Amino acid sequence: MASATSGAAIDDGADASGFVLALDIGGTKLAAGVVDAAGNTHSFVVEPSRTELGVDTVLADLFALGRRAVAESGVSWTDVGAVGIGCGGPLDAKSGVLLAPPHLAGWHDVPVVALAEQEFDRRAALENDATAAAAAEHRYGAGVGASNMVYLTISTGVGGGIVIDGQLYRGATGNGGELGHVTVDWHGRRCRGCGRRGCLEAYVSGTSIAERAIEAGMPPMTAAEVAAAAREGERTAVRVWDETVEALACGLTSIVNLFEPELVVLGGGVTRSGDQLLAPVRALVREQAMAPAGGAAEIVPASLGDRVGVVGAAAVVFGAVRGG
Ligand SMILES: [Zn+2]
Repeated sequence: MASATSGAAIDDGADASGFVLALDIGGTKLAAGVVDAAGNTHSFVVEPSRTELGVDTVLADLFALGRRAVAESGVSWTDVGAVGIGCGGPLDAKSGVLLAPPHLAGWHDVPVVALAEQEFDRRAALENDATAAAAAEHRYGAGVGASNMVYLTISTGVGGGIVIDGQLYRGATGNGGELGHVTVDWHGRRCRGCGRRGCLEAYVSGTSIAERAIEAGMPPMTAAEVAAAAREGERTAVRVWDETVEALACGLTSIVNLFEPELVVLGGGVTRSGDQLLAPVRALVREQAMAPAGGAAEIVPASLGDRVGVVGAAAVVFGAVRGG
């Protein structure tokens, strides 16, 4: 029977033989999919979030999308054991409540787990989306087998997730692992995500790369276009890109010193620039991190692509990270 407070407390391994309906609530896109215990997606559907229409409409859209995902999967509802939900924080994973996510204006204390349990008559679990993505990469993606791993997703903002001794680290209320808010310059740029100054996110997010390009005198363009211009050798773009590399290496060096992970997995749209970003960042972290942590940390791209949010929301239900 559904419980309004089960939250992330769904036991490890519960429903592991069945399927999970996974829901991902993003600021621009909603996604849903049916995922099995091996991390395979049997359906994957996406639509715009339309957050301006308010919480009730967005949740109705989300739940309708979930029903469509099950219909398109070919999986019978009776084999769908639970619902996993990923969303940006801050949230309370234990009580299943979204507190006030900055990407969802006007959402305050939304009991999304209770609402999903009521809607689907199944247990549901809520997890920070970046933490869920870390679980997905660890269980099914680039991090399989790693005992100590950190994950960063670098896109509109910068999210993070941490695996310690093979287990997902969540923090006291499920908001731990905000690696995008490691400070790289305490008098630096204002961070849109948290309001402080000089966060990693304020330099390496796609939003920041585009902003810094304009400030440097370039015409308005996306982060991907800045990367392309830097590859072409356009001098201003090269400067903006070099600063991005330096900031990411600076933040990652602190993270590597803190956790001494054997693996750093980098995902999100900005990392599509591939070795243009990763190669110099690897070299700098190796050079700057304290020995032997710098040498121990392998820095690799994420492998699950656009589906990581949905697979992550399911991974959390499958109990996920332990044992790889
Ligand atoms: Zn911040």
